[in-house]
Amino acid sequence: MSNRGQGSYGGLMSLGGSRTTSTDESVLDALQQDLPDGAVSFDADVLSTYGVDRAMFCPAGKALALVHARDRAQVQHVLRVASRYGVPVVPQGARSGLSGAANAIDGCILLSLEKMNRVLEIDVANRIVVAEPGIYNAELSRAVSDVGLFYPPDPSSWEFCSIGGNVATNSGGLCCVKYGVTTDYVLGLEVVLANGEVLRTGRRTVKGVAGYDLTRLFVGSEGTLGVITEVTLMLRPASERPLTVAAVFDSASTAAAAVTAVVSCGVTPSLLEFMDRVTVQAVNDAFNMGFSAAAGALILAQSDVGGDRSVSEIKHMAAVLEEAGAIEIAVADDPAEGDLLLAARRGVLTAMERLGTTMIDDVCVPRTKLAELIDRIEVLSAECGLVIGVVGHAGDGNFHPTVVFDAQDLDQVATAKRAFDEIMRISLELGGTITGEHGVGLLKIELLEEEIGPVSLGIHRALKQALDPQGILNPGKIFAIKA
Ligand SMILES: Cc1cc2nc3c(=O)[nH]c(=O)nc-3n(C[C@H](O)[C@H](O)[C@H](O)COP(=O)(O)OP(=O)(O)OC[C@H]3O[C@@H](n4cnc5c(N)ncnc54)[C@H](O)[C@@H]3O)c2cc1C
Repeated sequence: MSNRGQGSYGGLMSLGGSRTTSTDESVLDALQQDLPDGAVSFDADVLSTYGVDRAMFCPAGKALALVHARDRAQVQHVLRVASRYGVPVVPQGARSGLSGAANAIDGCILLSLEKMNRVLEIDVANRIVVAEPGIYNAELSRAVSDVGLFYPPDPSSWEFCSIGGNVATNSGGLCCVKYGVTTDYVLGLEVVLANGEVLRTGRRTVKGVAGYDLTRLFVGSEGTLGVITEVTLMLRPASERPLTVAAVFDSASTAAAAVTAVVSCGVTPSLLEFMDRVTVQAVNDAFNMGFSAAAGALILAQSDVGGDRSVSEIKHMAAVLEEAGAIEIAVADDPAEGDLLLAARRGVLTAMERLGTTMIDDVCVPRTKLAELIDRIEVLSAECGLVIGVVGHAGDGNFHPTVVFDAQDLDQVATAKRAFDEIMRISLELGGTITGEHGVGLLKIELLEEEIGPVSLGIHRALKQALDPQGILNPGKIFAIKA
């Protein structure tokens, strides 16, 4: 079948005005042979829109074509064609990524999974959901919630990111402090390999240790080892609507110490979030939240165990926060009031974007190093003369320092990029990681070896070579294929 009439491709020119080669034409012909009309697009505007995710400062190449796959067989076809012609393939979910991992590579096929978006099965008795990769996190969460079950990983982008993307980046979120991250819920995967073969990993049982844990190998692999076409996820019984406590501190370092106190107080909060002075001020200004002007930092904690136990957990955490030096405490013993407090946290990015262009970092340090991380970022902000707001999942030690700059001012752009990299270096010096949940993609590639070391990088390359000997799957993401 052919859709040759669609888009700008007519055998003459490809994107950006460069000539399509005869190989490009052969690839496009071969792609279309086994795909339905409309599945392949080469419209320049469409390719340019689909050529990027939401990261800043990441290069994006010019794709040859975009394929919207509707089933596993179509994914297999794309990979067989790509293998035959040695063409790179960039798998894509919803392109909400913040590291350039889904960005186009020159001459690549963008393989979008967004139309493979069905829930295939909910097994209530065994607490399992099987779904296609393109379904949005929020849609899957609502589907399982309708039958009294709970899928915990809840990235802030949950309304516009896909489960396949979540698995490929091992996404975290607000309630991971209690429930863990995506990998803790992935029981099994169906993956189409670079040569078009189908691999099934994992199991449907609670336990199982047969063979290497290939499921974990694909979690967080950012589309470089295979294309995920089906996911089997473990679920939990539904939790109760949480109660919330908010505590204001006069300084970030006192608040950071309070986080450690909460974590060791015997209660496991279902959420433990931190906002520094800059972000509290920004949400105050943007949404009139009414937090004290003296606020040097804000901590939000929740309990979702339900009933009187939630009330007593919240009271206990409030007492611990007070003891740790909170200057104001608000306890919301009604879930709706808690939602209002949490709106402050959810509104941070919008509020920060009012201050200028933002670049969101994503580092994670041992919880005992939180105060040091925050102090050093404050010093960095003063040194580089740019606002850096710090917000994050304090209970996990995972922070999103957000650098604000004027994108029209090239000096500021360069300074912002340096500050962004310096935040990662600080995290490494404190025994942390360059990325807690957003992934390496293109954005953090230069610092990967610094974190994992040459031996680990060599093993990454060997695994890539074993699974993708031609190097066609999202090449150049996470690490350069050749040393
Ligand atoms: C405002 C905002 C808030 C965010 N908050 C969070 C947060 O709280 N926590 C968090 O972890 N992230 C967060 N993110 C980042 C992003 O939403 C996550 O990384 C998400 O998991 C990406 O999913 P996606 O479907 O958009 O994937 P994409 O961006 O399309 O792709 C991401 C990577 O996964 C690969 N991939 C996608 N689908 C497949 C597949 N089926 N098979 C193989 N590889 C695939 C791609 O090749 C790419 O390498 C946020 C982003 C934004 C813009």
